[in-house]
Amino acid sequence: MPALQVCAILEDKLYLKAELCKGCSFCVEFCPKRVLFVSSAFNAKGYHPPGVYADGKCSNCKLCELLCPEFAIYSTDYSRNAGRGNGAGGGQEVQ
Ligand code: SF4
Ligand code: SF4
Repeated sequence: MPALQVCAILEDKLYLKAELCKGCSFCVEFCPKRVLFVSSAFNAKGYHPPGVYADGKCSNCKLCELLCPEFAIYSTDYSRNAGRGNGAGGGQEVQ
């Protein structure tokens, strides 16, 4: 089975597993910062995963993460933890 691609869609904060997305738009509709939109792109299942506005200001509130029924989107803040512990962080994209 090929590795699932995880992509950062907003630097250091918001991550999307596009192939898990079912295009329900919950994350888009309920984001309090209105940083997401329904993209015109298709994933392999034929759904439209969310995109993010270039000037979006994600607050890392994690509401999208809580609402997503497919566990396809999540937020974190690696920059806040950069330089601590084992030095992990920095918002690297995972392939
Ligand atoms: S973490 Fe909060 S602000 Fe950021 S995209 Fe998700 S719902 Fe919107
Ligand atoms: S809530 Fe999850 S499944 Fe629904 S559109 Fe957003 S990322 Fe896709």
